Amino acid sequence: MKVLITGGAGFIGSHLAEQYIKRGDDVYIIDDLSTGSIDNIAHLQGHAHFHYHLDTVTNQRLTAELVDLCDVVFHLAAAVGVKLIVESPVRTIETNIGGTEVVLQQCAKKQKRVLVASTSEVYGKSKQIPFSEEDDLVMGATNKGRWSYACSKAIDEFLAIAYWKEKRVPTVVVRLFNTVGPKQTGRYGMVIPNFVQQALKGEDLTVYGDGQQSRCFTHVSDVVGALMKLIEHPQAVGEVYNIGSTQEVSILQLAERIKTLADSDSEIKFLSYDKAYEEGFEDMHRRVPNIGKIHQLIGYQPTFTLDEILQSVIAHHRNKLTAQRGTPAPSFKA
Ligand code: UDP
Repeated sequence: MKVLITGGAGFIGSHLAEQYIKRGDDVYIIDDLSTGSIDNIAHLQGHAHFHYHLDTVTNQRLTAELVDLCDVVFHLAAAVGVKLIVESPVRTIETNIGGTEVVLQQCAKKQKRVLVASTSEVYGKSKQIPFSEEDDLVMGATNKGRWSYACSKAIDEFLAIAYWKEKRVPTVVVRLFNTVGPKQTGRYGMVIPNFVQQALKGEDLTVYGDGQQSRCFTHVSDVVGALMKLIEHPQAVGEVYNIGSTQEVSILQLAERIKTLADSDSEIKFLSYDKAYEEGFEDMHRRVPNIGKIHQLIGYQPTFTLDEILQSVIAHHRNKLTAQRGTPAPSFKA
């Protein structure tokens, strides 16, 4: 199979590319490295089945050529990370909506199967736990930057479903719930890489708000496995699927667990949302998926426990620190 992955140098895209390469497929990626990193795909470069284009998906000619060449398309290119979204709302909205428009238009020309990655953010401030695909989406006011991400992704979903309904383009939408694992950067504010790096360096772990907000973290391998099954499943077309874990943890408990597993002396400090993001920032208190729909279709069940996830991320960052310093990281307890 020939697989096109937009955002293929990103955290999830690069793990997906690796799995297809391992399976013996041809992988084509487009990535402008705006949030992706060349380090994520360094080990794939030079591989006979790996083809890399340093460009944006809004380059219509290139996207058209690659869509034409490939059998299936994963559209993962997007502006991600709450910090980035709050700091660069124009880029977030334009990248997310403009990029998806181009990809869907090109897929429509050739009737190519395309999976569009959306996010659990679209559930917004909904309190109807767990979140199911048919639930109402509850957005905040438009002067609160965070919601621009959710709205831009909701528009992407509407577009993908509209392309199926109106033009019979085989589209699938997935809502990803806090996907984590090795290689995820903390640069855009994601909590696990941030806490792990702070714990390993002996710095304070910065818990935003009161730490009682909760999330369910999914290992990237579980997500990638689900994406590969969904894109080939005929009944997935025109549908929306949650992909996540149901193991809920508060952010304060998460900080404590990371400290323990990393054997770190760091302290836990609280930082107000206003200081961490912007004045008036609104967080989601709980975010738990209902995964019944995807379980029923492909038997999806997350396989990594939270501890296993954290251990894999700690090991990744320990190795990185050791490589940077040339010696074992000094801030662990003796
Ligand atoms: N968070 C935190 N400290 C950090 C980064 C994030 O306490 O250094 C909190 C953040 O406010 C949110 C949760 O951790 O409540 C998850 O944040 P992340 O950005 O990873 O994902 P989100 O669920 O917000 O998309």
